[in-house]
Amino acid sequence: MNSSRFPTEPTFDVIIAGCGPTGAMLAAELRLHDVRVLVLEKETEPKSFVRIVGLHMRSLELMAMRGLLERVLQHGRQRPAGGFFAAINKPAPKNLDSAHAYLLGIPQPVIERLLEEHATELGAQVRRGLAVAGFEQDDEGVTVELADGERLRSRYLVGCDGGRSTVRKLLGVGFPGEPSRTETLMGEMEVGLPQEEIAARVREVHESHQPFWLRPFGQGIHSVVVPAEGVSDRTEPPTLEDFKQALRAVAGTDFGVHSPRWLSRFGDATRLAERYRVGRVLLAGDAAHIHPPTGGQGLNLGVQDAFNLGWKLAARIRGWAPEALLDTYQAERHPVAADVLDNTRAQMELTSPEPGPRAVRRLLTELMDFDEVNRHLIEKIAAIGIRYDLGEGPDLLGRRLRDIDVKQGRLYDLLHRGRGLLLDRTERLTVGGWSDRVDHLADPTAALDVPAVLLRPDGHVAWIGDDQRDLDDHLSRWFGTPAS
Ligand SMILES: Cc1cc2nc3c(=O)[nH]c(=O)nc-3n(C[C@H](O)[C@H](O)[C@H](O)COP(=O)(O)OP(=O)(O)OC[C@H]3O[C@@H](n4cnc5c(N)ncnc54)[C@H](O)[C@@H]3O)c2cc1C
Repeated sequence: MNSSRFPTEPTFDVIIAGCGPTGAMLAAELRLHDVRVLVLEKETEPKSFVRIVGLHMRSLELMAMRGLLERVLQHGRQRPAGGFFAAINKPAPKNLDSAHAYLLGIPQPVIERLLEEHATELGAQVRRGLAVAGFEQDDEGVTVELADGERLRSRYLVGCDGGRSTVRKLLGVGFPGEPSRTETLMGEMEVGLPQEEIAARVREVHESHQPFWLRPFGQGIHSVVVPAEGVSDRTEPPTLEDFKQALRAVAGTDFGVHSPRWLSRFGDATRLAERYRVGRVLLAGDAAHIHPPTGGQGLNLGVQDAFNLGWKLAARIRGWAPEALLDTYQAERHPVAADVLDNTRAQMELTSPEPGPRAVRRLLTELMDFDEVNRHLIEKIAAIGIRYDLGEGPDLLGRRLRDIDVKQGRLYDLLHRGRGLLLDRTERLTVGGWSDRVDHLADPTAALDVPAVLLRPDGHVAWIGDDQRDLDDHLSRWFGTPAS
């Protein structure tokens, strides 16, 4: 028997199943802490079909916190932050609470490539054409079996393998929720009608049918999104004829569509994994939650899961994580996903052509003239309103701190290495024996209205105050025992 095919000692600290945006982000976060990471991706080539996604404010903040913002901005188009909740067309109120108060439209394959490059630049190994087919876990680690029979050993396994996650199924974790009730066709193709005729018809249909669009996408190609009739078994990809039929049913014309570049469909199944962790195996991204794409939140949610999990798992592997730290991943992220699922359910209701939901949509459209209502919905979609439950304390506790001016420039520039940060306006606090994990910035000029804050590596506020003993307790809670 070939011993490399049946290893016993962990060769890797973490194996990640799936190199989508969630897996790539997680790999990069782990590498910031020198964790030995292997990403296994079943596809031999990166995805090619262009699904334009939006990076919302919190994801853009994450990019800024890891020095990636310039890279992603070069490849995307900045758009106003408003108008995403159920596609209700309202401009965003002024003074949104972010230094990056816009949406960045960017093709999903591009964001995946940039995140994968970032992970490999930091030293993550990505092996393509290898699918995780099974695993067994014990007290010391996980033996992962690939579809070709090869076995690999690691200390942890994370399933970032998408909505149909093999890892989740093998774990036996429940995935309750609702199956697809509606289906939407999406693709790119050429059209046979004059532009003005299309625009007029699209405007009319848009009044009553959401989601529906037919938009020029450059070089004579149009991007088409149209509700399908019924729900297919999805074993077969849709055909151009399916698109024509759906367009005729909704718009009374098929716009003369022809020469498709790619055709796809998506449903509105909404499901949330019952658990995000079973022993040494964890779930993140679409493997843990699926929902319709209204509001454009799925990729953002997955990348933010990875950002929450990365430093905690790294701390566990580096040996300084307090016992309960890894459990805070599920405690914090499960409710966030539940909230996203709920807001997509609400948005789906608001896109129904039935008279009742259309009346509710009109009412909500009126209510969004109140800045506070509009702001609340935008903050929900953009994930900047999240407050993790870290116990009693001021409102800022558990929230992310926005990028602010500090002595050396911008706060987020100080977080590139994924370490904790004490931002100290009192100039008399210290991070003592935690200085190998936590930086200290004594800065009386910081644009902050509290004496000091302790930031976790994900930029969330873990403590507020001015008392050294209290600070030490919180440093222990989040960063373990101090080095001697
Ligand atoms: C039409 C549409 C529009 C969308 N628009 C937006 C948007 O605007 N904004 C947004 O945030 N989100 C959007 N989404 C959602 C977004 O695409 C997903 O949420 C996102 O891709 C999830 O990322 P992930 O890395 O968790 O999973 P995935 O992207 O599904 O990646 C999983 C990876 O795992 C691999 N894999 C699967 N099984 C195995 C295995 N056994 N072993 C190894 N590898 C495996 C797959 O090949 C894949 O590469 C949209 C989705 C759709 C359908």
